[in-house]
Amino acid sequence: MTRPRIVVVGAGFAGLHALRRLERRIPQGAAEIVLVSPNDYMLYSPLLPQVASGLLTPQSLAVSLHRLLRRTRMVPGSAIGIDPERKVVVVKKISDEVVCEPYDRLVLAPGSLTRVFDIPGLTEHGFGNKNLAEAVVLRDHVLAQLELANATDDPVEREERCRFVVVGGGYTGVETAASLRRLTMEAAKRYPDLRRVIRWHLVDIAPRLLPELGTNLGEEALDLLRGLDIEVKLEVSVREVTEHKVALTDGRVLPCRTLIWTAGTSPSPLMESLGAPTERGKLKVGTDLVVPDQRDVFAVGDAAAVPDLSKDDEGALCPPTAQYAQRQGVTVADNVVASLLRRPLRDFSHRDMGLVVDLSGRDAVARPMGYDLSGLPAFAVTRAYHLWALPSGPARARVTANWLIRALTGGEVSRLGFAHGKPSTFVDIEAGHYLDAAASRKESARLLDAADA
Ligand SMILES: Cc1cc2nc3c(=O)[nH]c(=O)nc-3n(C[C@H](O)[C@H](O)[C@H](O)COP(=O)(O)OP(=O)(O)OC[C@H]3O[C@@H](n4cnc5c(N)ncnc54)[C@H](O)[C@@H]3O)c2cc1C
Repeated sequence: MTRPRIVVVGAGFAGLHALRRLERRIPQGAAEIVLVSPNDYMLYSPLLPQVASGLLTPQSLAVSLHRLLRRTRMVPGSAIGIDPERKVVVVKKISDEVVCEPYDRLVLAPGSLTRVFDIPGLTEHGFGNKNLAEAVVLRDHVLAQLELANATDDPVEREERCRFVVVGGGYTGVETAASLRRLTMEAAKRYPDLRRVIRWHLVDIAPRLLPELGTNLGEEALDLLRGLDIEVKLEVSVREVTEHKVALTDGRVLPCRTLIWTAGTSPSPLMESLGAPTERGKLKVGTDLVVPDQRDVFAVGDAAAVPDLSKDDEGALCPPTAQYAQRQGVTVADNVVASLLRRPLRDFSHRDMGLVVDLSGRDAVARPMGYDLSGLPAFAVTRAYHLWALPSGPARARVTANWLIRALTGGEVSRLGFAHGKPSTFVDIEAGHYLDAAASRKESARLLDAADA
């Protein structure tokens, strides 16, 4: 009898925790476990704003998969298609070679991408903060603007380069705006003439910031941002972006060369390639995380529409957060094992434990288990939470060391030179994941036909 093959696509919060659980639950040699992932690390994305601000080195958030996974065979590449009839995943390796990976059970956990809206100029000029490359490029770009502003006598260019607009009042936008604002304050110590010119804006179409935190903490976060001299505009969005300006829907036109786009995410386009029902791009699954009518395929994390059993509302879905993705990873591994053993599967259920938002420096707001915290207690809880949630000891040590080094030696504001002259918008950097569905389907079909022949 051949060993069953379990293929996991994606090693983020959901994929990594699924793989660790599978390795723990399945006896050595009883099944083959395969991971398809473009990277050999798991990214701890909640701390990305601290990479953008230079508080953490990029390596501290890249948690080594080789260190954590002992029995998983890794295929370095991206899944570009799935054929549920033949039970194969089509994978484009990082070498561009396209191969088929057969499965007996498939776990889809490819996460999400920065959400693109139909706003003129957005895809050409918007910067993102969703992965390590974007965080590093963003930091370089922001620091380069100040250097260039300092080096010019043209007051218009100076104003454009010293103005920064962040779009999105969720945790990513708020944390990114606060941490980069502090970076520019630090850098401006070298450029006294620029101090009065530097402007930061945060805009969101919603009437409140951080709605997940409730009214009081949302207001608290708003006050903290305003205290950092960030102009926050709510119920406003972006109408147009060009190289030299950002036009807002309230009619204002801001001279600006940096638009940071954090207004939401959209599920990986891979989910559409299965041909199964989706909800706003997320693959629909049952409470047992199985795709209906395809009992061998499971989906978890940001790219899956998982019913939220903790809510009374029948149509409620689990929120796209690390907290949920990680726990879904553990449940899906148990259900994969149960399905191989032909045992009953269990439902995924989790009650939200709250949210922590790091506003850089010593500022934070947090709502653990429904308790509103701000000031030093929120700062302590936020830092402790991240250390607890990082999935490996070495990663925890690296992050702690970075925080200590900053506390002892102050900030470092040198550019690394990554963005210089290269395409660096979020669309450029995430391009590999914006699957051209038609092209991928053709490429997959060609390979599968060749295999059949
Ligand atoms: C800046 C920022 C701050 C955040 N802060 C918080 C927070 O404070 N609290 C919280 O709970 N959540 C937070 N989140 C959200 C959280 O990071 C996500 O909800 C979580 O990462 C989702 O986990 P996932 O496993 O579904 O996807 P991910 O963690 O994104 O992992 C998906 C993986 O799949 C890989 N992949 C993608 N496409 C393919 C493919 N075709 N083939 C193979 N592999 C593929 C990707 O490279 C990636 O490694 C934050 C996110 C960001 C960006």
